[in-house]
Amino acid sequence: MGKSISTQVAAPGFRHFCQQLLSSLLPSSCLLCGARSAAAPVCPDCERELPALPDCHCPLCLDRTTHGERCGACQMQPPHFDRIHALHAYAFPVDHLVHQLKYAAHLALARYWGEQLAGTTRVAASRVMPLPLHPRRLAERGYNQSLEIARWLARSLQLPLDRHSLIKTRPTRPQAELPLRARKANLKGVFECREDLEGEHVLLVDDVLTTGTTLDEAARTLKLHGAAQVSACVVARTLRR
Ligand SMILES: [Zn+2]
Ligand SMILES: [Zn+2]
Repeated sequence: MGKSISTQVAAPGFRHFCQQLLSSLLPSSCLLCGARSAAAPVCPDCERELPALPDCHCPLCLDRTTHGERCGACQMQPPHFDRIHALHAYAFPVDHLVHQLKYAAHLALARYWGEQLAGTTRVAASRVMPLPLHPRRLAERGYNQSLEIARWLARSLQLPLDRHSLIKTRPTRPQAELPLRARKANLKGVFECREDLEGEHVLLVDDVLTTGTTLDEAARTLKLHGAAQVSACVVARTLRR
């Protein structure tokens, strides 16, 4: 029994290790078109085609608005984070790439995006924090994709990476599976912070922002623990139709 449990936990980590070893030995090619690519997992031609965020967007949540004014949702109830930095709209083929990072351990994407986010994040933050996974989910997957992105973002910005202060206290169902109204209840009180963040400006990192409920709840927790500002950094943002 004990043996089978330890095997289950070790397997994703081992797969992850093999993936990394393989990708360091093979010549790199673009994950989208297969062309040889110097170092990046996406070649410059494909990179230019990735879906951009709308020019006119809500300054708080980046969703599309007519003249760049605050969107209705943020007017009714502003989020607890102060701003978002995002690289792309969440659409094809960014969704495919995110899937490659999240479920196929293409960790070169974490470095690629972490470094790009560092280039667009011009705020004076004091620490970088990934959105945590519940330990059970972490054991299944073998790694936390948000931590992998946060690692490179922190390194590029020369900021401390804080991977332990924010924790997830219980597993939750993926937000995308739930109707809008159930999402807040699914997450209520799900994060806990183990550090006094008095006066800190936290860069909170996640892969995709869908409705913003998860980042909002995490930012709320950080502010309850004293954070003065929370800036969210995500690879992609889902736009409302
Ligand atoms: Zn390509
Ligand atoms: Zn908004």
